Amino acid sequence: MENIGVMMTCACSPSPYLQEELDKQFKLFRYWECANKEEFLKSNSNSIRAIVCNTSVGADAKTIDLFPNLEIVSTFSVGLDKVDLVKCREKGIRVTNTPDVLTDDVADTAMALILATLRRICAMDSYVKSGYWKTKGEFELTTKFSGKRVGILGLGRIGSAIARRAEAFGCPISYHSRSEKPNAKNYKYYSSVVDLAANSDVFVVACTLTSETRHIVNREVIDAVGSKGYIVNIGRGLHIDETELVAALVEGRLGGAGLDVFEKEPEVPKEMMELQNVVMLPHVGSGTWETDTDMADLVIANLKAHFLKKPLLSPVV
Ligand code: NAP
Repeated sequence: MENIGVMMTCACSPSPYLQEELDKQFKLFRYWECANKEEFLKSNSNSIRAIVCNTSVGADAKTIDLFPNLEIVSTFSVGLDKVDLVKCREKGIRVTNTPDVLTDDVADTAMALILATLRRICAMDSYVKSGYWKTKGEFELTTKFSGKRVGILGLGRIGSAIARRAEAFGCPISYHSRSEKPNAKNYKYYSSVVDLAANSDVFVVACTLTSETRHIVNREVIDAVGSKGYIVNIGRGLHIDETELVAALVEGRLGGAGLDVFEKEPEVPKEMMELQNVVMLPHVGSGTWETDTDMADLVIANLKAHFLKKPLLSPVV
């Protein structure tokens, strides 16, 4: 397959593994490194048959149209919000993602964010490292997590994995999804997001980003979580109206927030830099060596299956 043109839109990962493997097995083009895109397209657009992308630089309609012989888009992510699925369907271009292999890591990250936010782990770490333990004495009290009511927006693969972890902390679980899950009898279903929020101490966002779920966490939902409640987002930044989130945190209408994702990554609202009740991560939900390798292997396995005319491993389109 070393003559098949595969174009990466961006590096996709801090690990070189995906690029190295693609380079070994295909004819790899690193689009983000091309100084002269026009020149690159003139010489290579016809030979690109696959795009590999991720959630920072996906494959929008304009990009897809640049490559007349494109057959498949394989995203190094489970989220598909940066791939124009309508365009791909129209043009008969296959699409794959990387579900399941990252579920545990993202759920672990959600739990880490919950504990870090309620127990103020990052602030405590700074307190010890700054020498304040010696000079100022004991750290102030924080908020208990075990037994708190956890509400999950999106009881899919990741949401379910978070629910299982939270159950081990003795937390009653509720959720909202488009439909009630017959295999989640121990969890309470709310058909309304606001009702879920009003009945959650910790409200975790883990749903798919679509036009329907953009800003699904609006002022009403944030106020329903309330001044004693916490919002944790490991979905996408655009699930939450960030302006409203900042206002609620600054005004004390929301207890706190643990955020892995933001509306305009890598930009974060400057007001949040000062807030003690916010823990922020740089979109690292699935960012471990182990999962990175599994995701890369799945991207490559999908490409190979496609070009060998075998069934795709994780087809979306
Ligand atoms: P999934 O199994 O497809 O689950 C998605 C969930 O979202 C489902 O429960 C679905 O409900 C729900 N949903 C979709 N549209 C909805 C709507 N309009 N209203 C309410 N709920 C809705 O996906 P997953 O593997 O768990 O991944 C979930 C998301 O996590 C991804 O799309 C991605 O954005 C995010 N993610 C983030 C990171 C990170 O690094 N922070 C890493 C991986 C993934 P139904 O079941 O009722 O359809």
